[in-house]
Amino acid sequence: MSFPFAGRRGEKPQLVPLSETAHLALLREIEAAGVGSFWATNAQGQLIYLSDKAQESLGPDCRKLIGRDLTSVFKECSLKDDSDTQRSLAFRMRTQAKITDQIVEISPEDSTAKNAASLRWWQVSARPYFDKKGEFCGYRGISADITSEFRHQQNMARQSQYDELTGLANRRRLQQRLTSTLNAFKTAGRVCALMMLDLDRFKQVNDTMGHPAGDELLKQVAERLGALIKDRGEVGRLGGDEFQILLPDVDDRGELSELAKRIIQMLSQPYSLSGRRAIIGASVGIAIAPYDGIEAEDLGGAVDLALYAAKAGGRGTYCFYRAELRDSASQAATIEEDLRDALDKGQLAMNYQPLVDPANNKVKSFEALMRWEHPEKGRISPEVFIPIAEQTDLIIKLGDWALRQACMNAAEWPGDICVAVNVSAKQFMNADFTRLVASVLKSSGLQAARLELEITESVFVGNVEAVDRTFAALKKLGVRLAMDDFGTGYSSLGYLKRAPFNKIKIDQSFVRGCTESGDTNPAIISAIVALAKALDMETVAEGVEAMDELKLVKERGADLIQGYIFSKPLSQAELLQRFAEAKLTFKPDGPPRYRADRMSVFRKIGLIHEDHYYDVMLRNLSPTGARIEGLSGVAAGTQVVLDLGGGQLVVSKVVHSNENSQGLEFETALISDGFGGLMTRHRVSPYALAEAGVPLAALGSGSYPLAQWRGGDKKPAKFVQLALA
Ligand code: C2E
Ligand code: MG
Ligand code: MG
Repeated sequence: MSFPFAGRRGEKPQLVPLSETAHLALLREIEAAGVGSFWATNAQGQLIYLSDKAQESLGPDCRKLIGRDLTSVFKECSLKDDSDTQRSLAFRMRTQAKITDQIVEISPEDSTAKNAASLRWWQVSARPYFDKKGEFCGYRGISADITSEFRHQQNMARQSQYDELTGLANRRRLQQRLTSTLNAFKTAGRVCALMMLDLDRFKQVNDTMGHPAGDELLKQVAERLGALIKDRGEVGRLGGDEFQILLPDVDDRGELSELAKRIIQMLSQPYSLSGRRAIIGASVGIAIAPYDGIEAEDLGGAVDLALYAAKAGGRGTYCFYRAELRDSASQAATIEEDLRDALDKGQLAMNYQPLVDPANNKVKSFEALMRWEHPEKGRISPEVFIPIAEQTDLIIKLGDWALRQACMNAAEWPGDICVAVNVSAKQFMNADFTRLVASVLKSSGLQAARLELEITESVFVGNVEAVDRTFAALKKLGVRLAMDDFGTGYSSLGYLKRAPFNKIKIDQSFVRGCTESGDTNPAIISAIVALAKALDMETVAEGVEAMDELKLVKERGADLIQGYIFSKPLSQAELLQRFAEAKLTFKPDGPPRYRADRMSVFRKIGLIHEDHYYDVMLRNLSPTGARIEGLSGVAAGTQVVLDLGGGQLVVSKVVHSNENSQGLEFETALISDGFGGLMTRHRVSPYALAEAGVPLAALGSGSYPLAQWRGGDKKPAKFVQLALA
């Protein structure tokens, strides 16, 4: 074919307008060469034409697209999140406007059976065309298949938002979501909970079973979390073994406790990693906007602290953020620092508490308990410093020392009395642990059968085979094994069957208050005793303080008793003195009855009555009531509101009252905070305070300046405020 602008031979080509036919021919030529790709619609906006190249791009099914509305064939999309700022394709077609470089998604197959592989992406441009009379006839457009670039870019965008291993949202996406959610919720006055999870003993699985196993484990954790949370929130992985869950519109701390417990339970079920078994645990921190933080950064900081506290509080627990955690985190850091030197400076000692046979009050063994006398802070409880040591390898050093010290001391005791030493999970899992036990026995000269190792359920977490090997090796040495704090933590019968325990120690929490009427603990104690008998193990009731508790645990068949009722832990010097006097029995001595489950507290709180804010001293607290001091002239039957701090307001009724002390009953019961403390389910939102005139910006995270609202002074104060001690 020749074109007119080619000109005559020898002449300089000239640019002349094309005839209509020549134009069409040119178009065909271009189409045939496979260079351009064209499409067209009719005046109704239906697709009527696809050039060969366009058809080739879409595959044989594209014929089905002919006759369909263009807006249903071309699905607009964009790689950036600005799609809604652009005019929609439908709008532009309605107004017969030009279409320029629009990216569209096309699904040539039936959209019901949408097959991801058949999806195509085009970049299209088009112009409306009109007939001679100026009537609109449809669109004619060109297209370029950008499928592979688009997929590539989409992947890149995905990778920047999602975790490659688990497919969950990554840190960046979570951060963006948190920020945008909180910003939007701030104007709407909505609440949002943030949970942060850390897997216990993940590192050990990773180290001993290999990284592929660790990766597989993380994937399974992600699946379990996804199945549990579903569309209630967004689950993401922050990296390593840290996960986060964003739960919009949840602020009920009762509901969140239940969810946290379920998460911990579910993640603590065994995993199968290419045929091998592993068990891990989880710790959960929880913070709620706007109470614990209004901005993403504050809430993130709060949830970090809550998680840290959960981990320090023992594995497999959850913890809500509260303002005091800010101080305790920095305190923990100083304690850890001081603890590093404590051993070298001789500040640590072992004390021994007797385990007594209640049939004859004779001591059978002593539990070795670590004591730390801090030069400035005085005695620090192992409940404080052991968890801190457990967060680092310091526990191994301390534990080794405790074992050595206890065995050396016990070797000086009368022949048949045993010593029980607490072994932390980290120490137990240390590859050298069995060798250490053997060497300590040898150097102290203590018979293996006189050493008992107290282990908690948390040792079962990790590489199952490695745990079983350590048990077998210890058994071979001839030492005895006791399961400590049974019934708390990851409680599972499977553990009892797997490990050759000689003894089960029933946790104090079952003993405390077991004589109160309606309590289910006696039934649990009986069940544990029956179970132990069936497995040929001894039982110990821990933490017996009162005579009625002693009677009950004896009746329920506990073989041994440990508790203040017989003795507090004693020093080695005190023991040696006793042995010298041949005093091998302990007489029970304690209050006749266990005192009601009221936590003794001594804390300044607020009380609101008729626009007046009073300071009162909280003396004890239970889920259903409290006793306060500091006011007089309060009549029984008065309705008041207690301010427990942090937005926790409790509507209460005065049930009895005397000169300066009142007993209150709560309208709604408090719930457990997971740490032996109590809290309200709901809190007063800072938004509510803002509405009442306190500027939101003035409220730092978790600050509730209710106390500053004292005295609306509309009415004279009804109560007399006494000076607080
Ligand atoms: P545990 O092994 O369950 O020890 C029993 C705890 O209950 C001891 O607290 C003991 O003093 C306390 N106790 C015993 N009878 C009563 C009672 O009648 N009433 C009350 N209220 N408490 C009673 P302690 O010595 O403060 O130790 C706390 C925990 O710290 C221990 O719990 C154990 O888990 C850990 N721990 C102590 N020493 C060591 C150690 O040397 N190594 C390791 N790894 N952990 C230790
Ligand atoms: Mg113990
Ligand atoms: Mg215990």
